[in-house]
Amino acid sequence: PLTYNDLIDEHRICVCVRARPLNKKELTVKDLDVITIPSKDVVMVHEPKQKVDLTRYLENQTFRFDYAFDENSTNEMVYRFTAQPLVETIFERGMATCFAYGQTGSGKTHTMGGDFSGKNQDCSKGIYALSARDVFLMLKKPNYKKLDLQVYATFFEIYSGKVFDLLNHKAKLRVLEDGKQQVQVVGLQEKDVKCTEDVLKLIEVGNSCRTSGQTSANAHSSRSHAVFQIILRRRGKMHGKFSLIDLAGNERGADTSSADRQTRLEGAEINKSLLALKECIRALGRNKPHTPFRASKLTQVLRDSFIGENSRTCMIATISPGMASCENTLNTLRYANRVK
Ligand code: ADP
Ligand code: MG
Repeated sequence: PLTYNDLIDEHRICVCVRARPLNKKELTVKDLDVITIPSKDVVMVHEPKQKVDLTRYLENQTFRFDYAFDENSTNEMVYRFTAQPLVETIFERGMATCFAYGQTGSGKTHTMGGDFSGKNQDCSKGIYALSARDVFLMLKKPNYKKLDLQVYATFFEIYSGKVFDLLNHKAKLRVLEDGKQQVQVVGLQEKDVKCTEDVLKLIEVGNSCRTSGQTSANAHSSRSHAVFQIILRRRGKMHGKFSLIDLAGNERGADTSSADRQTRLEGAEINKSLLALKECIRALGRNKPHTPFRASKLTQVLRDSFIGENSRTCMIATISPGMASCENTLNTLRYANRVK
């Protein structure tokens, strides 16, 4: 029979797409759905089905991915085909990453962190929490129980090329590379976690830290990458690591002409990191010896996850279904398409 290692290569990279439903705002302005997911791995962008006075002609475009999730899919379903298969990787001494990529408002945080809209603060159904749940379940399996593994969590943010600890009052952290090509985030808090509830508390702490002092949760989070990590250690030594990343919004076109210098710089930094990310994932998929991880802070801190024989990654590209978003949606689909 096939072993775990036999399966790794062909499943190293998984790319999927998730469309959310039209939201209240879009329905109010009568935005129309231009997305159809006709089968479990196909996404179509097309003219709206209702007859309208089109200001823009949309050519039908079809994309194929490993999986495509329509507006009726739940986080639990998305999780099962994306992050869940990666949980085993970290028990097998591997490195796993899972990214949510897409425009602001398309559902990245909903998918990864859970529901933070309005008064809701339910992070128990996000991919961070579902992954943690399964890590604690796996720990109980006889094979892994005997390894005596300890579980830790970190939560940090990369904003304008700088790293901030979300579990330590946004302390600004330095990133160092030692002579042995190891990258270290100096002083990053690694919290000891014993159960899923411990992890849920950390997600809440980190998330409120992320958005504190901001007029809108999205204004800030659209411009920063949030990285949540689950780390397994054995006798103090790293055994495996799962990095779950809620990326900055990919809509940066307007930034380049912004009158505000800071906005332009931030936009350029985000573009740079998303391009570097794509190259690093492609390099991982092709077993290339040179991963261009130094091109951005994001890829630099994730360096150890892009190298090594037992590294696997998954990208969840989130899209908004409305016609008003179709340009960003097409950009997202093209990017996701090229990652593999
Ligand atoms: P992003 O993090 O990409 O900016 P959010 O996750 O904050 O986007 O989602 C924007 C809004 O859409 C939120 O109010 C969120 O609750 C809602 N939403 C996102 N995805 C879904 C979904 N699959 N089903 C229902 N509501 C969703
Ligand atoms: Mg968000």
